Amino acid sequence: MVKSVEEIELIRNSSLLVSKTLAELAGHVKLGITALDLDKIAEEFIRDHGAEPGFKGYGGFPNTLCFSMNDQVVHGIPGNTVLKEGDVLSIDCGTLWNNYYGDQAFTFAMAGVSEEVLKLLRVTRKSLDLGIEQAVVGKRVGDIGFAIQQYCEREHSYGVVRELVGHGLGKNLHEDPEVPNYGKKGQGVRLQENMVLAIEPMINLGVRNVRTADDGWTVITRDGKVSAHYEHDVVVKKDKAEVLTDFSIIDKAISKNKELQEIVE
Ligand code: MG
Ligand code: MG
Repeated sequence: MVKSVEEIELIRNSSLLVSKTLAELAGHVKLGITALDLDKIAEEFIRDHGAEPGFKGYGGFPNTLCFSMNDQVVHGIPGNTVLKEGDVLSIDCGTLWNNYYGDQAFTFAMAGVSEEVLKLLRVTRKSLDLGIEQAVVGKRVGDIGFAIQQYCEREHSYGVVRELVGHGLGKNLHEDPEVPNYGKKGQGVRLQENMVLAIEPMINLGVRNVRTADDGWTVITRDGKVSAHYEHDVVVKKDKAEVLTDFSIIDKAISKNKELQEIVE
């Protein structure tokens, strides 16, 4: 599970390309565009950089983006529905570059989103930061999950999805260890320097329960309420995890797009 310095550099390149792809998409989101339009833009952008979409064909998934809107949690298939005011867009993207994967998710909000939903996005994003704070040598996987669960469930009464989890990352999109967004302090796999983890809280406004749609892919909240998903790829270090993906370029692109709501306060 521990990666070499050379491997980490390759994962960093792939991870950063995902961030750039999500920032590129943030510049294209507008009323009337479809998820499928954005999927094409993402695929072209990734290929133009000499990489391959990491999700396309993975387990039979048909597209470059997992595009999950509103009550969809993850694994949504991009479709022809046009984006409208107040939509919540969870976009998860992967790249495969020089044999190493990058994997990042970001939940965007179209302008007009409610304050209640905006708060869910901010809390989910903050919970990711709290999880990353635990990704240091000597801690255990359970410490990451505990931090996320505690903040989202105890402090904000949101639903923490149990069925899907974060993971190790490298030559494979999903490697050991699993990184659940719930857990007990001091339990689970011990974290070692240079493990690379994709940490990705999936947090529901309502109940934590989910179901899979008839398409066999899309995971949806049981109560039909909105869900949020943020994901970073991080390297476990002694004092502070190193984050390979980058939200700042996505935030910057959002700030320039009037049809998107800024997430950061
Ligand atoms: Mg992902
Ligand atoms: Mg992932």
